[in-house]
Amino acid sequence: MSSRKTYPPKPLFLERMKKLLGKDFDNYLKILEKQPVNSIRCNTLKIKPEELLIRLENKGWGIIQPFKNFPEIMIIKSSLQPGELGRSLEHLLGYYYVQEIASMLPVLALNPKPGELVLDVAAAPGSKTTQIGAKMENRGTIIANEVSIGRLKILASNTERCGVLNAIITKKDGVSLCKKLKEQGFLFDRILVDAPCSGEGTIRSSNVTNLMWNPKTIIQLSKLQKSLLVSAIEILKQGGEVVYSTCTHAPEENEEVLDFVLNEFGKNISIERISLPIKCRPGIKEWNGNSYSKEVENSCRIYPQDNDTEGFFVAKIRRIK
Ligand code: SAM
Repeated sequence: MSSRKTYPPKPLFLERMKKLLGKDFDNYLKILEKQPVNSIRCNTLKIKPEELLIRLENKGWGIIQPFKNFPEIMIIKSSLQPGELGRSLEHLLGYYYVQEIASMLPVLALNPKPGELVLDVAAAPGSKTTQIGAKMENRGTIIANEVSIGRLKILASNTERCGVLNAIITKKDGVSLCKKLKEQGFLFDRILVDAPCSGEGTIRSSNVTNLMWNPKTIIQLSKLQKSLLVSAIEILKQGGEVVYSTCTHAPEENEEVLDFVLNEFGKNISIERISLPIKCRPGIKEWNGNSYSKEVENSCRIYPQDNDTEGFFVAKIRRIK
């Protein structure tokens, strides 16, 4: 039996989730009790999904590829020892990245192409930078930025392990970096703002999030998220796209941030509809007495009980002028 301490969700958090989910709140509570699914992303820079599948099956791991159009996404059905996924030879060789399925969705929405100029504003530990690198087939340029030196080291080691050769790693506050890039005249095809957030969507795999959860932090993060997203939009090419994502359900960190940039940039931007291979619910238009632009409905709320994943929020913003 595990002796690890667990923390219950705080009453205000539960109250907010109940308000968000209504009748579905009980299903949400149920899924939180369920063991998270083990998933990996095949690193196509190093190995084809069909070859990795054979190698992993030969180890005795039962593998499912849940999405026909994305064979790189794999679920491990066998029960594994704690840490086993990160200790295999295939992992060491960079053949796969251990990544929760919901966390793979922002890059599917971003859809970067070989040859493009892409900025990853908050990149560590590198799940999405390595996924972007694979989609770009190591052609074009990724600027992968991270503010924390400790996390930057993990980002560097993951990009190296996965054989991402077209990433330049920078250590800066995302807002200052975008300002500097703007002064230098850089304009990007695609930008990912996978923002620092309150992490409500990760409670299933990281119970300590319950302990850290705090409404004041949500307000502070919302301010940072707004400035990161505004700064990113300013260095987008005309026709370029920013994906904004968080692993939280808090509307202050999601729809409120989108509504803020819609007010800042007016008709120069639009929130695009995105199609993702799992069930998404539309962004909400009202929260705690505030109402948001109708366009925020084009964003995606991903709840754990809908797909047996973590919770996420994904939105795509296009620069029109
Ligand atoms: N995109 C990453 C991935 O998929 O592996 C996860 C990013 S995590 C949600 C957010 C990251 O933003 C953290 O590593 C955090 O250190 C970093 N961060 C926090 N404040 C930042 C800032 N002002 N500028 C840039 N990065 C920041």
